[in-house]
This record gives sequence, C-alpha cells and structure tokens, in this order.
Amino acid sequence: MSIGISSLGFPRIGPHRELKSALELYWSGKIDAEELQADAAALRSRNWTAQRDRGVTVLPSNDFSMYDHVLDTSAMLGVVPEAYGRLGRAVGLDTYFAMARGNASVKAMEMTKWFDTNYHYIVPEFYSGQHFELSSTKPIDQFAEGFRAGFQTRPVLLGPVSYLLLGKSIDGIERVSLLPNVLPVYVEVLRRLADAGARWVQIDEPCLVMDLAPKATEALATAYTTIANATEGLNLLLATYFGGLGRNLELALRLPIAGLHFDLVREPSQLAAVAARAPRSMTLSFGVVDGRNVWRTNLRAVLDSIEPIVADRGLDRTILAPSCSLLHVPVDLELEADLDPDVRSWLAFALQKLDELRALSMALERGREAASEAFARSDQAVASRAASSKTHRADVAERLTRLTPEITRRANPSEVRRAAQRESLSLPLLPSTTIGSFPQTADVRKARSAKERGQITASAYEELLRDWTREVIRWQEQIGIDVFVHGEFERNDMVQYFGEQLNGFAFTRHGWVQSYGSRCVRPPIIYGDVHRPSPMTVAWSTFAQALTLHPVKGMLTGPVTILQWSFVRDDVGRDEVCRQIAFALRDEVADLETAGIRIIQIDEPALREGLPLRRSEWDTYLRWAVECFRIASSGVRDETQIQTHMCYGEFNDIVDAIAGLDADVILIEAARSKMELLDAFAGSYANEIGPGVYDIHSPRCPGEEEMTLLIEEAARRIDPSRLWVTPDCGLKTRTWDEVRRALTNMVAAAGRVRAKLAERTR
Ligand code: GLN
Ligand code: ZN
Repeated sequence: MSIGISSLGFPRIGPHRELKSALELYWSGKIDAEELQADAAALRSRNWTAQRDRGVTVLPSNDFSMYDHVLDTSAMLGVVPEAYGRLGRAVGLDTYFAMARGNASVKAMEMTKWFDTNYHYIVPEFYSGQHFELSSTKPIDQFAEGFRAGFQTRPVLLGPVSYLLLGKSIDGIERVSLLPNVLPVYVEVLRRLADAGARWVQIDEPCLVMDLAPKATEALATAYTTIANATEGLNLLLATYFGGLGRNLELALRLPIAGLHFDLVREPSQLAAVAARAPRSMTLSFGVVDGRNVWRTNLRAVLDSIEPIVADRGLDRTILAPSCSLLHVPVDLELEADLDPDVRSWLAFALQKLDELRALSMALERGREAASEAFARSDQAVASRAASSKTHRADVAERLTRLTPEITRRANPSEVRRAAQRESLSLPLLPSTTIGSFPQTADVRKARSAKERGQITASAYEELLRDWTREVIRWQEQIGIDVFVHGEFERNDMVQYFGEQLNGFAFTRHGWVQSYGSRCVRPPIIYGDVHRPSPMTVAWSTFAQALTLHPVKGMLTGPVTILQWSFVRDDVGRDEVCRQIAFALRDEVADLETAGIRIIQIDEPALREGLPLRRSEWDTYLRWAVECFRIASSGVRDETQIQTHMCYGEFNDIVDAIAGLDADVILIEAARSKMELLDAFAGSYANEIGPGVYDIHSPRCPGEEEMTLLIEEAARRIDPSRLWVTPDCGLKTRTWDEVRRALTNMVAAAGRVRAKLAERTR
C-alpha cells in the first residue's frame, strides 16, 4: 500500500523562462508554429520527468498552457468573442494569441487577477443563449502525449462552475445559468479522456472556498451529478484551494466525487471536519505544503497533524500535495547561489516542495526514521529561522509596541490642512499632475543592465539618470504641468526599488513566477523584520526639486503594495509585516519633508487586490491596511500634502476605506469607466481627488476634446475646487511620442475647463 504524491500543477515557464523565450520568438516571426509546439512539448516532457524523479506519483497533465489555463478552457468550450472571428470549429494558435494579446485589428480580451494571486487570467465573455462546443482537444492531446511517453497522468480541468463565475456577462445574463450549455462539452472531454486511458481527472473548483450564492451552490450539485452519471468508471478528484471550504464543506462532500483536495496551509483547522465527515471511500488529497509561498514546511508539525488520520483512513486513499498548484512559486532553489545561506536554508521552491512531500510520504509509509535526514533539515530550518538575528530586530519590535492612535492621525482635520496647503502651494483650479514614471525607454533599460553587468560604472549610470531627470523637469516646465514628478528613471520596479534598500528583504536571480502569458516577475522575499537603514528616495527627489520652482512630488510605494507584491514571511502575521514597512516609510516621509519636499505621493495600487476572498474577512484586512497607510503618511505638518494613487479595478466596494486613508489627494484610475466611479465619492468624501482622464494602458492617444469632456463630466460629479487632472497611472510603459501628445492635450484640456469655470463664476 502506498500514498500518492501529487503537484496539482507545475510551473509552465521553465526554470530559465524557456516558454517566454519560445513565445517571443514565435510572436516576432523568428520561429514557426511547429517549432513553438516542439519547444512546448519539450518543456512538458521535462516537467513530467522532473516531477517523476522527485517522487511524484500522480502527475498532472493539461496544467501546461501556452498563455493561460482559463483562456485554454475558453478555447476548449468555444468561448471566442466574435471579434476574433475564428474559421471552422477549432481554436487555432493565432486566434488564441489574438484573444490573449490582441493584434493589428483587434484588442486583447480583458485580463484580471486569478483569485488573490498575482497571476492574471483572460476573462471569458458570456451572453444569453450562448452555444458551447468542443473547440480545442488540448486536454486529451496532452494526456495522450504523456501516455505515449510513458507518463500516466491525471489531467487537470478548470471546473465548469468556477469557470463560469470567473467570466463576465456582457448582457446581464446570470453566468451560472449557462451551465446546462457548458456541461455537454465537459462530458465529452471527460469521456474522451477516459477512452484515452485516464483513470482519474482533477477538476479545480476554487470557487468552493468563497461565499457562494444559492444559484452557484445548486450549479455545483447539478454539474457533478451530471458529470458523474455520464462518465462512469472515471474518478473525479475535486480540487479546492486558496482557503478553507467553510460552509461549503457539506456541499463538497455530498457531490458524487471519488476524491477531494483541500487546503491545509491557508486553513489548517478544516482537517478535523474533513476527516470526520468525508465518506471512508473518498480519497483525500491533503494540501500540506504551501503552494503560494516559498518557505520550507515544518514537516514534523504536518506529520503530527495528519498521521492519525492517514492511519485511520488508509494509505492508498491518501494523496499528499501542495496547498494549490505550484504555478505560483519559482521552480528551483538550487539555482540561487547568491542568496544568503541562512535565508536559503529556510526556503523551498517547486522542486524542493516535491522533496518535502516525498519525505512526508516516506515517514507515513515506513516510519519517521525512513526520512530522518529530511526531517532533521526541516527541524533545523525551523529552529534557525526562529532564533536568527536576521529575522528579529529588537528595535523594530519595540517600535511596534509604541504604536498609538496619534501615530495614525494627522494633527489636524483635512479642511485645516487644505487651507494650509493652498496657501503654501498656491496651485490653480484643476491642478494638473502625473502619477510618477515617465517612459522607461530602451535607453534607460539598456543603461541599467549595463550597470548591472559592470559595463558602465555606477557614477556613469547616475549621470545618465540625472540627464533624463533634468530633461523631464524641463519638459514639464515647457508644457505647463502644475505639479511635477521626477520620472522614476532610477527605479527598476516600484517594489524591488524599495526592497533593495530595506533590511529584511532578499532577492532571487531566477525566482520567476508567471504573471500573465510570457510576463514573469521575481517577487522579493520578505524574510525578516523590516528596517530602513538610510533614506531611499531623498537624493533623487531633492535633485529634481532643485531644478524647478514647481513642487516636485516625493514618490513612494505604499506599505500594502510592497507587502502584496512580495513573498511574505509566514512566521508573523501579514498585518505585522505591513506595519513594519509602514514605519520604515514613515521615516522616509519625514526625511522628504525635512528636505523641502512639499507634496509626497504614496502609491497603493494593490490595496484593492489584497481583499480576502471571503467578505467576512474584509473588515479586518481593510482596518489594518488603512492603518498602515496612515502610519506611513501621518507624521507630516499640515502644509505637507499627502497624495495617493490607486489603479487596477473596481473601487466601489472599498470607497470608505479609501476615504479612510485620509490622503489629501487621491489620484485614481477612472478613464475607462468614464468617471462613473466618482458617484461613489460624491457623497461623503471630503478630500481632493484626481480621476484619471487618460487611459495609459492603451497606445491610443486621447485628444484634447475627449479629455475636456471627461474633466467636465468629473466637474459635474465633484466640486471643481477639489478636482485634479491626471492620467490613470504611471507612464513608464508608453513611448515618448505618445506621452508628449497625450500630456500636451491633457494640459490644454485642463486649461480650457479652468477658463470656462472662471467665466461662470465671474
Ligand atoms: N508611481 C508609479 C508610476 O508612476 C505608480 C505605478 C502603479 O500604480 N502601478 O509608475
Ligand atoms: Zn497605477
């Protein structure tokens, strides 16, 4: 009798981003479709081999994707909006990539975050009466490919209910009401998989860890009854992850499924309930190793918790797995030769996580001695991390204990500050500004990588940065913007730039994880107490400020965003780590103020995406997130203006929290929603606001007329004396040509509306 070991899914990009390279070659026409397919097949084979060599007995297939597994599901079901006009039934590569990225004639489909991860998926579009038909046989093809190569796999499918809930309805139709149209395609795929030799299929329904409306609950029951009836002999493993099942546990256990995967990392407390209530014939897949984070597992603690349950239920109905697919962690820690050896000894990437699963399974099958070495290393890591002077700093801990309400409050209410700021800043009505970055051109990126490779000296690099900064200051003078930025040329990334200057952060060389398609990120690893050894941005801000009489904004990334876009230590609460970052930023804010910077912008684009999956946990999160922003921002005088910036997504849900930040000015994405968002702010919000009038995500350059209309629209919803004029986000991804035209038009539009308003009040 033996235990199964599964990964639930393996990183697709390859340890050296091989998939990215192949995709980019294909997109630029340097290789053809056949070569791309061959490269992808080689990656899959390599992933299967690597997993099998590490002891995985339940290998996944169809976890690989050329771009995104939700888009793959759309291709499978024939969910292709008309604009992508595919020929025939099958969704070919070109249609697929057009949906993902757009092309000369069509825009890309919308993209959004996959649950609470930093992975983005392509949002499917639904409408009433939609017809679904099998349009891509990828799940079957890739199963067969593995089968031929000697890998018996368990194919992974995104479940029908989660899939429908992840999409958007374009005509108001209730998404789950399309279930009856979708199910026949699922049944067909499953039958074909069974015919091809599949014995188990993993169906992912992460929606089960969220609050479900009654219609969705019903849909789940219908879906699995229908599927089970139509696919007798095939075993379904229902995979849930990113949290606990909570009230949905009863429902999940009532479904006609042969196995259940559940997340014991996010929700260890569900172990007892699942063990007590799952039918004895049901295979349980224990998500015991963190699939979302990079820390080694405390093997002893895991073993102690599951051992009696496994003994009771039987080894052959037990699978050990990560909490979720390993898609969200880097591939191989072995590649990180430069990491601090202590920090390195606390980490596990995808391959190392498989080793942990194997050690656990050996201990369960043959007793702890069988894996004594792995257990000793795990114990050692736990002990050294807990005791290390690298993780704990007395001064940081002590400062958190001195957190009083005064620290989170400006000295005076916003009206008082506003008067003081008006006086000291003397800005016109509808002041214009930008969000921070100016184009990160090829020149800028080339210079940075030359410096990193030692091809130019640090001082030569800095001289270039100073030139570019001078240039944008001069240019802002020329076009007549009111409040300046320095352009952020010195920043590689808005989180990495700060992490590299703070204690408690580590950076990897190859720790890539997929963000979307070919785009990968290397999140910093926050391993210890966060502390700022010295000022981070003061030199650049004061350099820029000395070049002009206009206010130049100090520019900081906020605590929640730094937290959200990093791998965060799991030995203290996220709220505590966030507070530590907030205090470090508070000191930076104070230094900027002392250095004569009159306006400081603290960006929090990730505030919204940090929201927990369950509503009941929102308040707690928002309370500490807002508190952290206020710790960072509240130490300044009345005259010093605090701005914040937010983008990505729907803000209606969190308007109260945004108001609660008590920033003097919020600059917020609004162009695409045509200022609709302002209605939410029209009532109680008393501070100033700059709704974006220029959608920087699109290469299209908005004209003066269009932006004039948007500003006027804004002025109808918000008192113009509180309005700012700004783009939706930073300009780093745009070209100079686009930025020059768009900002010139924006300043002209602000001027026009300003003149009209002046006319009216005269
Ligand atoms: N200040 C940053 C910039 O302009 C903000 C980026 C963001 O919101 N993502 O680039
Ligand atoms: Zn932004």
